[in-house]
Amino acid sequence: MGRKRCAACGDGFTQRRNVPSQQYCSKSECQRERRRRWRKEKLSQDADYRANQAAAQRRWHERHPDYWGRYRQSHPEYTARNREQQCARNRRRGARRPSPAGIAKMDAYEAKKPVSSGTYRLIPVRGPGIAKMDMYIVKMQVLCEA
Ligand SMILES: [Zn+2]
Repeated sequence: MGRKRCAACGDGFTQRRNVPSQQYCSKSECQRERRRRWRKEKLSQDADYRANQAAAQRRWHERHPDYWGRYRQSHPEYTARNREQQCARNRRRGARRPSPAGIAKMDAYEAKKPVSSGTYRLIPVRGPGIAKMDMYIVKMQVLCEA
């Protein structure tokens, strides 16, 4: 059997004799990519498959209602990435559907100097002279840059 080029990584590989249509090499990440593409194609083409997958996910979620909450707690980088992607989607969507935090975001949008995450002194605006009496040290995290 001849040499072929892997559809995922592009490396050459020797085709298995019993799989004439083989397009991916045997590396585990390429096999994972093959299954991922197969599933994506299947989901876009096959309404029954799509419905079955959705139902299975729903059933699984009913058995594990707190899975995602725990997952997010133990994977802050996942949560941060999701937040960034949601922010990007919100930006593309524009101001048509403001989120609950829409008002705050509008303010940030119009601010000339962007605020960065960090520790700040928070001093309530009252009369002069008493301002320093109640000062707070606060940590702020920028969730979304508009
Ligand atoms: Zn490969």
